[in-house]
Amino acid sequence: MEEGIREGLRALVGERVLFAAPLSEYTSMGVGGAADALVFPETVAEAARVVAFLKAEGVPFIPVGNLTNLIVRDGGYRGVVLCLKGLRRLHVAGEGEDGLALTAEAGVPLSSLVAVGMEEGAAGLEFLAGIPGSVGGALRMNAGAFGREMKDIVASVSLLRFGGEVDHVPREELKFAYRRLFLAEGDVIVAGVFSLKRGERSRIRSRVEEIMTMRRERHPAGWGSAGSIFKNPPGAAAGRLIEEAGLKGLEVGGARVSEKHGNFIVNRGGARAADVLALMEIVRERVEAVTGIVLEAEVEVIGEEG
Ligand SMILES: Cc1cc2nc3c(=O)[nH]c(=O)nc-3n(C[C@H](O)[C@H](O)[C@H](O)COP(=O)(O)OP(=O)(O)OC[C@H]3O[C@@H](n4cnc5c(N)ncnc54)[C@H](O)[C@@H]3O)c2cc1C
Repeated sequence: MEEGIREGLRALVGERVLFAAPLSEYTSMGVGGAADALVFPETVAEAARVVAFLKAEGVPFIPVGNLTNLIVRDGGYRGVVLCLKGLRRLHVAGEGEDGLALTAEAGVPLSSLVAVGMEEGAAGLEFLAGIPGSVGGALRMNAGAFGREMKDIVASVSLLRFGGEVDHVPREELKFAYRRLFLAEGDVIVAGVFSLKRGERSRIRSRVEEIMTMRRERHPAGWGSAGSIFKNPPGAAAGRLIEEAGLKGLEVGGARVSEKHGNFIVNRGGARAADVLALMEIVRERVEAVTGIVLEAEVEVIGEEG
C-alpha cells in the first residue's frame, strides 16, 4: 500500500489502523491472509471520512463486522478492510402503545440486542441468541434462525452512500432475500432501526435459554467456524444432505466437516483458507453426485488466492 494512503489513514483514525494485518486473527474461522490495512472507525462521521478518502483515492474497501461469516483467502485482501465493530451506540424508545423502536449502530453485537430484549422486555430479538455477528453483518446477511430473519424486525437501515451522505432507507425500499440484503456497490450499513413489541421479560428470557440450549445440542463448539457453510436449498436442509452423502468427519488439512452438524466446517487448528475451500468443493461435488442438488455457499469468500 502506498505511503500516501497509509499517511492519509493515520491522519483520519490515528492508531486505529493496522497495516499488513493477518485476518486469520480476526475471522471466526481462523483463516485468511493479511489485509493491506484494517481500519477501526469509532463513529459514523469517522467512518464517513474514511470511506470518502478511500473513494477519492480509488482504494478498494470492504465493510465488515465481527468476521463470523467470512472466509478470507490465504493471499489476503488488497485494499482496506473497514471494521465497524467500534460503532456501538444503542438506544431504545417507546413506540405507540405496546411497541418499542430499537436503534443500533452497525458494530453492536447481536448478543447485546438479545440482552436488551431481555432487560427491556422487547420481544422479537430472541432468534438472534447465539449468533456471533454484529448488527451490520446480520443486516447484510439477513441473518436468521428458528424461522425468523432480520427482515422480519427491521424498520429502516442507515446507509453510508457514495457521496458520503447517510440515507435512512425504510423497510419497504429494502430488498431482502434468503441470507442477503441487496445493496449498491460501496454502500456501508451504519445503523438499523428495529420494530419490536413489548413482551413479558420472563417469557423472553426462557425463549432465549431454550434457543441457546438447542444451539449447544446441535452445533459444534470449541473450534473455529463460520456457522452454516451452505444455504439450505428449497425444501431441504444442507446439513442433512451432507450427512446423507456420508461426509461428516471428512478432512482436508486442518479443516473438517463437523461430526456434530454436517453444515459446519471446523478449523481443527492450522487450517488454511485453501483447505476450507477445497473441502467445500468436495462436499458440493459429492452432494450433487448423491442427491442431484447443487449447494450454494452461505459464507462470503473474499480476497486473493494464496
Ligand atoms: C457459531 C456460529 C453460528 C452462526 N449461526 C448463524 C445463524 O444461526 N444464522 C445466521 O444467519 N448466521 C449464523 N452465523 C453466521 C454469522 O454469524 C452471521 O451471518 C452474522 O450475521 C454475520 O455478522 P458479522 O458481523 O460477523 O459479519 P461479517 O462476517 O463481518 O460480514 C458478513 C458480510 O456482511 C458484510 N458486512 C458486514 N458489515 C457490514 C456493514 N456494516 N455494511 C455493509 N456490509 C457489511 C461483509 O462485507 C460480508 O459480506 C453463525 C456463525 C457462527 C460462527
